Amino acid sequence: MRFDIVTIFPNIFDSYFKESIIKRAQTRGLVKINIHNLRDYTTDRHRTVDDRPYGGGFGMVLMVEPIFRAVKKIKKKKSKVILLSAKGRKFNQSMARRLAKLDQIIIISGRYEGVDERVAKYIADEEISIGDYILTGGELPTMVIVDAITRLIPGVITKGSLEEESPVSYTRPESIIINGRKRRVPQVLLSGNHKEIKKWRTDRARP
Ligand code: SAM
Repeated sequence: MRFDIVTIFPNIFDSYFKESIIKRAQTRGLVKINIHNLRDYTTDRHRTVDDRPYGGGFGMVLMVEPIFRAVKKIKKKKSKVILLSAKGRKFNQSMARRLAKLDQIIIISGRYEGVDERVAKYIADEEISIGDYILTGGELPTMVIVDAITRLIPGVITKGSLEEESPVSYTRPESIIINGRKRRVPQVLLSGNHKEIKKWRTDRARP
């Protein structure tokens, strides 16, 4: 799996992608993450990536031309171009599973007032949102999506931990006083009865 991220703030990704599981996945050659500075795909001496919106209004909009050039240069076979946008389809676990099967994902990260709509219409294969709120840019959504997909790539995390993933977990101590009341680990998890434990976890599993 290869991620190609197109952004005007390439340094934002440094800390997150260089730590923990995502770092290990790259070191082990299971994923490759390439960060592309959109300004490298401009042709003027000011390396301009944005302009004022047609029809007036506040702020600046990322231009279609540098994005078009970047995608043309980066795109390989069996790849998908994703545009991050608050009006896109809401990202979820089944999308992550589907995208994890691809060879290459190109992610276009917007900024300012957004991206020229022709990118959504004619360049991107999918428009994805990570939630019903508006962020200052697509870099955080990019990290969310890369993280959710990377952990599904075979070999990145132990197979069993994906299969038995549970949204509810406990660890030591067995009992603790919180606000004057004893709070215990559910008895079933201490029972040693694997069938019952599995059922307890399945009942609490995500759909
Ligand atoms: N004017 C746009 C609107 O009203 O939807 C908001 C632009 S936002 C300030 C700048 C960029 O951040 C967007 O182009 C997009 O790439 C990214 N972004 C913001 N919120 C997002 C979300 N919930 N999911 C994915 N990307 C988001």
